[in-house]
Amino acid sequence: MCGVFGYVGQPTQVIPLVADALRIMEYRGYDSWGIGWDAGSEVALLKRTGRVPTSLAQDNLATIAIGHTRWATHGGVTDANAHPHSDKSGQIAVVHNGVIENAESLKTTYLANVAFRSETDSEIVPHLIRWHMDHSDTFTDAVRKTFLLLEGSSAILAMDRSTTMMAAITARSPLRLGRRTDGWELASDPLACARSSQEIAVIPDHHLVVLTRDTAQMLDLASGSEVAISWEPTPEETETSRGTFPHFTIKEIHDQVEVTRDLATRHADVEPLAHAIQRHSHILLTGCGSAYYAATLGAQWLSQATNAWIDVVPASEVSPSTRSAGANTLVIALTQSGETADVVDAMQQAQTWGATTATVVNTETSTIANMADVVVGIKAGVERSVLATKSFMAMAMRLHQTARVLAGEPIAETTDLSSTLESILNDADIARIAKKIADNSSMLVLGNGFGRPIAQETALKVKEGSYLHAEAFSTGELKHGPLALVDEGVPCIVIATSRDELKRGVIAAAEVRSRGGYVIGVGDFPEGVCSETIRIDSSSDYACLLHLVAMQKLAYHIAIARGVDPDFPRNLAKSVTVR
Ligand code: GLU
Repeated sequence: MCGVFGYVGQPTQVIPLVADALRIMEYRGYDSWGIGWDAGSEVALLKRTGRVPTSLAQDNLATIAIGHTRWATHGGVTDANAHPHSDKSGQIAVVHNGVIENAESLKTTYLANVAFRSETDSEIVPHLIRWHMDHSDTFTDAVRKTFLLLEGSSAILAMDRSTTMMAAITARSPLRLGRRTDGWELASDPLACARSSQEIAVIPDHHLVVLTRDTAQMLDLASGSEVAISWEPTPEETETSRGTFPHFTIKEIHDQVEVTRDLATRHADVEPLAHAIQRHSHILLTGCGSAYYAATLGAQWLSQATNAWIDVVPASEVSPSTRSAGANTLVIALTQSGETADVVDAMQQAQTWGATTATVVNTETSTIANMADVVVGIKAGVERSVLATKSFMAMAMRLHQTARVLAGEPIAETTDLSSTLESILNDADIARIAKKIADNSSMLVLGNGFGRPIAQETALKVKEGSYLHAEAFSTGELKHGPLALVDEGVPCIVIATSRDELKRGVIAAAEVRSRGGYVIGVGDFPEGVCSETIRIDSSSDYACLLHLVAMQKLAYHIAIARGVDPDFPRNLAKSVTVR
C-alpha cells in the first residue's frame, strides 16, 4: 500500500511539487519516500527512509516526475527498497502501489540476467518494460504488456525520460488523473490534486492512461481502443491543520464534540439503511480494525431493534464459505477511507451472493461508496491520525441512530453526548493515570456487553499508539484463563458501561486486586472497589460511547508518556489498500 504521484507538463521545480503531493498521501504509508525526475541524460532518483521532509528545494526545472510514499510489503524499509525503481538504462522509472503476486516467477522467466538493486516485488516492473522495449515495443505497448503479466492488485506509474511520456494503469488500486493549467498529474488520492487540478477523472480498472506534455489519452487495456476520459470537479481542499493541538490524534479526539453534535441533527440520513435492514432476514456487518469493533458494537444495538439474524465478520475473513442468505442478506461495510482492500473484497463477495450492500463510510466518493447500494456518510471530517478515533465514534453513532429508527424511537437525545464529552475531555485525571501505567510491558482490558467492543477498541488503541501489549477479554472470561497474566502491579482496565455490566466488573476488579493487579475501573464503580476510577455516567443506552472517549484519551496519554508519536505509529498506515 502506498501513495503514487506523477506530473507531466511545463518545466517546473518538480521536487517540491511532488513532495507536497506525497505529504498529503502519507496516510497511505510513511516508512519511506522517493521522487524520480528527468535530470537531462537520465532519471534522477531521490529516495529515503522516514517521513517526507517539509522543505525540499530544487535549482533546475523538469517536465516529468514521479513520486511514492511507501508501506513496505516486500523487502525491508531501506533507501534501496524505496521507490521509484529504474531500469538498467536509467531512462525508465516506476512507482508501484500494491503487491505483485507472481514477481518471483516473472523474474525467472524474463529477468534471469538482471542485477536487481532492491528486494521489492515492484522492481521487476521497470525491467519488464525494458525487456519489452528491447523486443521492439514502444514504451506504451511495453507498459501495457508488462501490466498484463502481473498478478495481484496494483497501480503503476511509469515514466520514460527519453520521450517525456508517462503511462499509468491500475487494477483494484485507486488512481486519479488531474488536469492542471500547466499539464497533468496522477495520484492515488484526489486530495493530492485538490489544490493544483482544475478537474479530475477516476481511472477505471484495466485502463491505460498515456500522458505527454500536451495530451492525455485513455485506452481500454484489453481492446486497445480509446475511451473518453470523464472529468469531474476537483474535490475541495480539506482542512488538515491540527490547530493548537500537539497531535492530530488528540485534535480528532476533541473533534468528537462537534462531530456528535452535528450527527445528531442528521438522523434522517440513516433511514435508507434502516429500510434496507427491514427488507432482509440476514445482516452481515463487516470492517477492519476499529471499524470492525464499531460494527461489533453497533450489532448489539441493531439486534435489539430487528429480528433479522446478525453476523459480524472481519472483512479479511469474509469468504465464499461465510454464512449468507443470498439475496436476503444485507452486507453493511464500515470503513473510514472507503478504500480498504479487505473491505472491497468483502463487498465483491457480497455481490456474488446477490446480497444488497450498504456502507457506513467517511469518504463518500470512495471505491466502496461507489460499490454500495446504500451509502450512509459518517460526516466525521478528515481523519489524519492513524489511530481511528472520531471515525469509530461516528460509525457507532450511525448504527445507534439506525437502531433507534428501526425501533421507532426518538433519536434527538443523543445530542446530549457532546456536552458530556466535553467534561470527559477536560478530565486531567486521565493523563495522570496514563502516566502511572505507561511503563508496564502489558495490560489487560476487560469489558462485557457493550463494554466488550469498547475494551477491544481500547486495547487496539494502546497497542497501535504506544507499542504496549494490551489484550482485551470479556469480563466474565477473566477467571477462565487470562487471570494467570495478573501479577503484582499489572494494570487491568475494567470497563462497565451499564448497571448490569457493573456487577461483573466489580467481581473482576476484586479478583484482580486480590492477586496484586492494579485496577482502573471505568464507569460507576463504588468507592474503594478499584485502585483508580474514571467515573463515567452509565445511565444511557449509548453510555459506552462516553467510555470510549475516556479510553481514547487514556491511550493518547500512554503514547505520549512512552514517547511515541501517535499520529504515525511504526509499521502502520491509515488506509490499508493491500490484502
Ligand atoms: N509491494 C511494494 C513494496 O513493498 C509496494 C508497496 C506499496 O504499495 O507501498 O515496495
